[in-house]
Amino acid sequence: METALHTAAGLLRRSRTILALTGAGISVASGIPDFRSPGGLWERHDPMEVATAEALARNPGRVWAFLRDTLAVLGRARPNAAHAALARLEAAGRLSAVVTQNIDGLHQAAGSRNVVEFHGGLRRFFCMGCGRDHDPAAAARLGPDEIPWRCEDCGAVVRPDIVFFGEPIPLDALRKSGQLALAADCIVVAGTSGEVAPASLLPREVKARGGIVVEINPMESAYKGLADVSIAAAAEIALPALADLVLS
Ligand code: ZN
Repeated sequence: METALHTAAGLLRRSRTILALTGAGISVASGIPDFRSPGGLWERHDPMEVATAEALARNPGRVWAFLRDTLAVLGRARPNAAHAALARLEAAGRLSAVVTQNIDGLHQAAGSRNVVEFHGGLRRFFCMGCGRDHDPAAAARLGPDEIPWRCEDCGAVVRPDIVFFGEPIPLDALRKSGQLALAADCIVVAGTSGEVAPASLLPREVKARGGIVVEINPMESAYKGLADVSIAAAAEIALPALADLVLS
């Protein structure tokens, strides 16, 4: 790991514009198990029954039971050293932005300012009838008898601004991440296995224009073969060490 870290730090120091791409792995140390892993939310809920637009229309109560569970898990989570390291690199002018597949808001909580959420986030809720914004803090306080959450104005179901299965990635996130990838000559990929498009295409875009791909993942991923350097370690170990080396 030491050799890979120093190689990566050298590449980052020579890069002009560095972008980060993060996924579920970066938040595991914050107490959010990957939805797909043992102990993850998909062990308690069937994604097709609780995380699709169709399910929201057909059975909003069930979707909201899942959302309450999710909000409880995320409500206890705090940013870890990996989130802090990316915020530190951005504050030092060494990182242009973080593109994340996570909906937990932990990058923002750690102090990152330029964050593109590919799958939306749980910091915005809106009425599916009249569009009115609803307070995310109130969502976290909903009791089991108060779901599905309904709009006080029109009675329609209130939903989070997250991307459910089968829903398109928000155009704004697509446009911004495309611009960021185009401007980057280096991308640091942390905690994502590279299997979910279109986020997984960003490293390929950077690489295709001669840029550098640095990967941080304790497990082998789809980026093997694409990455210039692979650091086989958890993000909360590797990213702070990398930031220390780059900023020293
Ligand atoms: Zn409404």
